[in-house]
Formats: sequence, structure tokens, C-alpha cells
Amino acid sequence: MSALLSITDLAVSYGEIAALRGVSLSVSPGEAVALLGANGAGKSTLMGTIIGLLKPRAGSITYLGADITALPPQSRARLGLGYCPEGRRTFPGLSIRDNLLAACWADRATQRRRIDHVFTLFPALAERPTTNAWRLSGGQQQMLAIGRSLMNAPRLLLLDEPSLGLSPLLTEEVLARIPSISAEGTAVLLAEQNAARALSVCARAYVLRLGQIVNAGPAASLAASDDIRRAFLGG
Ligand code: ATP
Repeated sequence: MSALLSITDLAVSYGEIAALRGVSLSVSPGEAVALLGANGAGKSTLMGTIIGLLKPRAGSITYLGADITALPPQSRARLGLGYCPEGRRTFPGLSIRDNLLAACWADRATQRRRIDHVFTLFPALAERPTTNAWRLSGGQQQMLAIGRSLMNAPRLLLLDEPSLGLSPLLTEEVLARIPSISAEGTAVLLAEQNAARALSVCARAYVLRLGQIVNAGPAASLAASDDIRRAFLGG
């Protein structure tokens, strides 16, 4: 299968600081792929570069067969690149339903269908559609943030550390939806420090350490790998 997203030799710097070097990876249509790495490994930098918020110093990003390296973020979003940033960032004063609608540029009937889809995926949100986001638990806010990033039916969802600040139980509940999201046709690139959980819901993974990919392969073999332990011990 030809890749949906293909990154080649990407390098990104913050001034003099090299955050990513020689990063290459690919994601196929409908696949769930984990991007593992400790704090500061470069996961958010990679996500920001794929979405177009950061400009690479070198390398290329191909999406749907076209080079999108120079495209602005809004054009990438229109091509079906979805992004759920770290830290949930819902609109606290808006209801669950309005949070979902605020992010959606489809017609009314499609909006309704997509809201129903999000509610099927996260039944906890369906129970209280008119509740304001600030009243929700951390787990529910994360579900809402993911739901919102699905409202334009992306072909690829970049999901940045959804487990951040969540209890193990809520992390499990949120990450457990990833196989359904990818099975329904939205490929997922999941950035996570929580390697064990991420590997249990993704088919493949890449391991990022100090800005470089140090290992990659099927989730099952990485789960048993020494490199995973090294990467997550830092340094
Ligand atoms: P985290 O889990 O903490 O978000 P991460 O794997 O997403 O970690 P990045 O946030 O991408 O890592 O950071 C990669 C490297 O780039 C780190 O060394 C970090 O200190 C550095 N960095 C990130 N943002 C900036 C910035 N705005 N200016 C300078 N350096 C930065």
C-alpha cells in the first residue's frame, strides 16, 4: 500500500538547537502508528512540523502523493490532516456540542452525522452534550479534544500525548478508542511517552530519542525491545 504520509530526512531546529535530525517515517491509510519518546525527544516538534506550524531546515513531507513541505497549515488541514495538540485546549465556556461544531466546516447534515459519530466513539460525551467544557473531567476534556479533531473527517490524525495528566484508567479509556478511529478510515500518528499503552493500540511504532529515530517496527517486537527501555530511561 502506498503511504498516506511520508517524511524523508527531516531536520528542525530552534535557533542553534537541533530538535530533529534525519527523521524519516511513513504512515499508510487507515493505520495506527505510535511515535514513542521521552520528554524532550522531539515528538511535539515533529507533529508541529507535519501540520505546518514549524518550518523544517531540511527534508520533505509528502502527503497523498504530493510534496506539502511548503504548504501553510490551513491548506494541510483542508487536505485532511487533523491535529489534536498536547494539553487538550477545548473552549471552556462552550458546550460539548458547540466545541465540536466550532471546529467543523461541513454542512449541517454532515455536522450532525459527525457529532453522532463522536458520541458513538465517546459515549461519556453523549450523556451531556450541553454541558460546558470547563465542567468536564480531564479524561472527558481529552475525549472532547479528540472528538473535535475528528469533526472534519481527517484522513490522518496527529494525536499529541493524549495521556498527559490522566490517570492510568482514563488513559486506557481514551487510548482504547484509537483502533476504532483507524478502522473507520482515519489513520493515527500517536505521540506518547506511555510506551506500553501506545504499543497496545498501534500496529507499528517509531522510537524517537534526542531528535532521531533510533528504532522502528511492529508494536509487538518493539514492546520486547531493549531500545524502548533505554529511550524511556532518558539520556
Ligand atoms: P514533550 O513530551 O515534553 O512535549 P517532546 O518529545 O514533544 O517532549 P519537543 O517538545 O518536541 O519534545 O522538544 C524537542 C526539543 O526541542 C527539546 O530539547 C526541547 O527543549 C526543544 N524545544 C522545544 N520547543 C522549543 C522552543 N520553542 N525553543 C527552543 N527549544 C525548544
